[in-house]
Amino acid sequence: MRVLVLGAGFGGLELTTRLADEFDGRVEVTLIDQSDAFVFGFSKLDVMFGRTVREAVRHDYRDIVKPGVRFVQASVQSIDPAARRVETDAGAFECDVLVVALGADLDVAATPGLAETGHDFYSVESAFATRDVLAAFDGGRVIVGVLSTPFKCPPAPSETALLLHDHLVRRGLRERSEISLVMDFGRPIPPSPEASTLLEGAFAEREIAWHPRREVCQLDPSRKVATLRDGGEMPFDLFLAVPVHRAPAVVLESGMTENGWIPVNPLTLETRFDGVYAIGDVAAVGTPRAGVFAEGQAAVAAEHIAAPSTAEQAMRSTVGAASATSRWALVRSRS
Ligand SMILES: Cc1cc2nc3c(=O)[nH]c(=O)nc-3n(C[C@H](O)[C@H](O)[C@H](O)COP(=O)(O)OP(=O)(O)OC[C@H]3O[C@@H](n4cnc5c(N)ncnc54)[C@H](O)[C@@H]3O)c2cc1C
Repeated sequence: MRVLVLGAGFGGLELTTRLADEFDGRVEVTLIDQSDAFVFGFSKLDVMFGRTVREAVRHDYRDIVKPGVRFVQASVQSIDPAARRVETDAGAFECDVLVVALGADLDVAATPGLAETGHDFYSVESAFATRDVLAAFDGGRVIVGVLSTPFKCPPAPSETALLLHDHLVRRGLRERSEISLVMDFGRPIPPSPEASTLLEGAFAEREIAWHPRREVCQLDPSRKVATLRDGGEMPFDLFLAVPVHRAPAVVLESGMTENGWIPVNPLTLETRFDGVYAIGDVAAVGTPRAGVFAEGQAAVAAEHIAAPSTAEQAMRSTVGAASATSRWALVRSRS
């Protein structure tokens, strides 16, 4: 059996590690990613706020891909899910089982004015570049704005607002700065009322202005004003953005998506194409977009690929989904 996994993020790495363990060389497992290294989502914030350096948070795939898995650094250019055939800039690949784990892309151009006057802190390179912007910032009005839902890691914008507060205190700039957090959620982390209450308390203590159920739709570079969907306006000196999220273009062009994401059977992670799975941020499963859920989905998909019996598969799915939820709680408790 040839298993081809597209994307070596949280989902792809977990899945290939499990398949390598399960099959111990009896199955050909190939993992493709355009990058040469993995970076944890939260490490971007550490680099951005000057708490560590980029070299310290890059994990070279040569060091972390499981022995027995063939890693290919290549950009995926087209996916034919019916034929289970993939074109890349390193050639074509065919397989018996295809797993799409290409994550979510960030569409900076979807928000007028963002590229000119805002700073995306969700992609690796732009978060690293924002480190210099923050180091040079001399105080003023800062907006942390989420520009669409769903977005990766619902707690991350709240963490960013709190880390920004600490950063400005450390630099003696907090008193002449204002921090606003704007998000189209009723509470900071809707699935977790307890964590939301704690965060709301932390915002109040630090005088971080929390603007629930509001969404910025455009930035005016000349006036330095953010326009909200409800018609309101907010002036800013620094805009830190969570850009609009989309499935990668190659996925949208493959015909696998509905309403922008790949629909899957949530118990198995199978798509409507025979032998084709989708896991992680690119899949529409109903859980928040987060590494811990991508990992849980990888575990379920790996067991389905390995397990022959349908009854056994259904039982394993239930266990996998439950453990993903508890891991999410654990990972978030670190902050
Ligand atoms: C600031 C921040 C903080 C976060 N903190 C946490 C946290 O504390 N806990 C948590 O659980 N989650 C966190 N997340 C969310 C987490 O990073 C994502 O949800 C997770 O990475 C999704 O995993 P994935 O495997 O679906 O996709 P990804 O990890 O995004 O992997 C997708 C891979 O596909 C590759 N790819 C995409 N297109 C192509 C192409 N055309 N050709 C080849 N390769 C391609 C990419 O290079 C990437 O390596 C955070 C995210 C951010 C931005």
